[in-house]
Amino acid sequence: FFLSPAEFVKSATDLSMIPENTMIPEVAFVGRSNIGKSSLINGLVNRNGLVKTSSKPGHTRMMNFFKLGDKLSLVDMPGYGWKSRDEWGGMILSYLQNRKNLRRIYILMDPSHGLKESDAQIMKLLDSSGLSYQVVLTKMDRLSKTKYSAAKAEIEAELVKGSICCFPLVLGVSSKTKDGLDELRAAIVKASQL
Ligand code: GDP
Repeated sequence: FFLSPAEFVKSATDLSMIPENTMIPEVAFVGRSNIGKSSLINGLVNRNGLVKTSSKPGHTRMMNFFKLGDKLSLVDMPGYGWKSRDEWGGMILSYLQNRKNLRRIYILMDPSHGLKESDAQIMKLLDSSGLSYQVVLTKMDRLSKTKYSAAKAEIEAELVKGSICCFPLVLGVSSKTKDGLDELRAAIVKASQL
């Protein structure tokens, strides 16, 4: 099944531009630049080109809002790494903390890179705000099944060791082969009903 039909609502470069807080459940996607976020959102809604996969910095600096009728709102957050983390944290955190309809944040990570310090920092920030988030490992197709399982186990162990309180199920996806997309869609639908 697909999360569709999806339509673009708005891009925002600062908080004053974000769409009004409505009752529609919202989920947001974050991750370091180049993690595969645009490809993933396009894959989830089965619409190539909905999110621009351009490497132009301008695109990754914006928060992009999409909606699926009146059922769900998806937010593509700026990749971390395009400006100072403090600044990223400030803008994003005030959005996250004040967004009453935000049901879950998906944190994308590359299993072949492991858990990065910037990811851990974001998760601690979310923990301290009591926000619900879940880890999604991208580009699964790049690793063999054995290597992927080992990388996933290592990341899970680090989450436990760092007392990081994410939703315990770490999901894996490939936008290229579409593996894991149905599971992620189901998780999003479930989170949106919380
Ligand atoms: P973003 O910067 O996080 O939005 O990342 P993009 O979606 O633009 O992807 C960054 C790069 O990774 C591009 O070259 C994509 O083609 C590649 N990529 C994204 N998803 C996958 C995937 O599932 N598998 C593989 N092999 N490459 C991917």
